[in-house]
Amino acid sequence: MTTAAADRVRTDVLVVGAGPGGASAATHLARLGRDVLLADGAVFPRDKACGDGLTPRAVAELQNLKLDHVLQGGPVNNGLRGYGFGQSLVLPWNGPNLPKHGSAIKRTVLDNALRDAALDAGATGLDGHRAVDVELTSGRLTGVVLRTKDRTVVVEPQHVIVADGGKSHLGRILGRRWHQETVYGVASRAYATSPDADDPWITSHLELRDENGRMMGGYGWVFPLGDGLVNIGAGTLATKKRPANINLKKLTEEYARQRQAEWQLGELTGYGSAPLPMGGGVSGVAGPNWMLIGDAAACINPLNGEGIDYALETGRLAAEHLVSRGSADLTSSWAAELYAEYGEAFSIARRLGTLITHERLLALSGPIGLRSHAIMSVAFRVMGNLVTPEDRDVVARAWRLAGRASLAIDRRRPFH
Ligand SMILES: Cc1cc2nc3c(=O)[nH]c(=O)nc-3n(C[C@H](O)[C@H](O)[C@H](O)COP(=O)(O)OP(=O)(O)OC[C@H]3O[C@@H](n4cnc5c(N)ncnc54)[C@H](O)[C@@H]3O)c2cc1C
Repeated sequence: MTTAAADRVRTDVLVVGAGPGGASAATHLARLGRDVLLADGAVFPRDKACGDGLTPRAVAELQNLKLDHVLQGGPVNNGLRGYGFGQSLVLPWNGPNLPKHGSAIKRTVLDNALRDAALDAGATGLDGHRAVDVELTSGRLTGVVLRTKDRTVVVEPQHVIVADGGKSHLGRILGRRWHQETVYGVASRAYATSPDADDPWITSHLELRDENGRMMGGYGWVFPLGDGLVNIGAGTLATKKRPANINLKKLTEEYARQRQAEWQLGELTGYGSAPLPMGGGVSGVAGPNWMLIGDAAACINPLNGEGIDYALETGRLAAEHLVSRGSADLTSSWAAELYAEYGEAFSIARRLGTLITHERLLALSGPIGLRSHAIMSVAFRVMGNLVTPEDRDVVARAWRLAGRASLAIDRRRPFH
């Protein structure tokens, strides 16, 4: 980073947002020798409303980043114990080309470690600096205005990676549009003490009911974090036509009440919630010299609400894309890359997610699915994003085929 004037700084790449997406992009770019400024509106360590769950795909991406040490000392889980409609199933993680374990780490800890890794790789950190405005010259982003309580800095970057999360304030300024006619999520979490916080399985209840017994299209979870603590939360799916219209805090409290006897939960603390843009349900994911990644690009799995792995992955993909494209215009190429990478899986997942918003259909299909270990094992694999391009088995082929068929009838394609 070179200082041209007291309040104007230049850099090769400005990354806005130091969550998993921004930290991953900054780490890769710094390792590739780029001059990177990693800015965040919050001061780290900071919290982020999340279930804190890391699927094997997220574990693999952390290994890929050579950040396995982040997982050391954290809990290890073997898969899911799923409940609902009077049934219970134990489903080990089952992606043939992925690790056989997941984890769950508080975001205050995980995100701080990821940001530290980016700084260790050579990125310059600028926390407490919120992106509030931009300067555009002939369509190119030539300045990003960052503000603290008492100072304003204008960063003049060659490229900008927008990793500012689901609401993506900067993305919106740059023309990102969120299309809520395709499925999206709303979710909330809290923390509670439990004597079973070392349980080596994550738990989900697929029959989620509010305090009046009304079935919700979503699921509740208990993710053991070790150290006497669990993350407990609930999330539901919605569309513009079928909005969620629920009090998320109440739903989480009710879910915790239902789980009280088995988990002996202490008082709920650290309540937090957020909307989840999913399945590439946004357009305007890039401009001539900027790219959106992670939640800003709606890279969240519509079938289970996880987004940490996609944030880490899109951080890597964006770094590689930016380096390989040089000074070329990124507007179409980045949307095309996201589409090629996730289009099929997101298209079919959001179609199935939309069905889940129909409570009656869920009430009919749920009991049938949960009765069969074979069906649920397949569902767990595809819902958990555990199909990789290397997989050649029947389930992987069928999932890709379904994805292609779904894309063919999409009114709006992912990322468009
Ligand atoms: C209740 C809930 C439970 C969830 N559970 C899970 C789970 O168990 N597993 C999972 O994989 N995913 C889960 N998710 C999704 C997951 O939290 C996100 O997908 C993930 O955080 C995306 O990472 P990101 O880097 O794209 O964005 P974020 O983690 O949101 O990071 C964005 C960063 O940008 C900063 N920022 C925002 N605006 C600005 C600005 N204008 N200027 C500068 N900085 C800015 C923020 O301070 C933040 O640090 C859950 C989400 C919710 C809401």
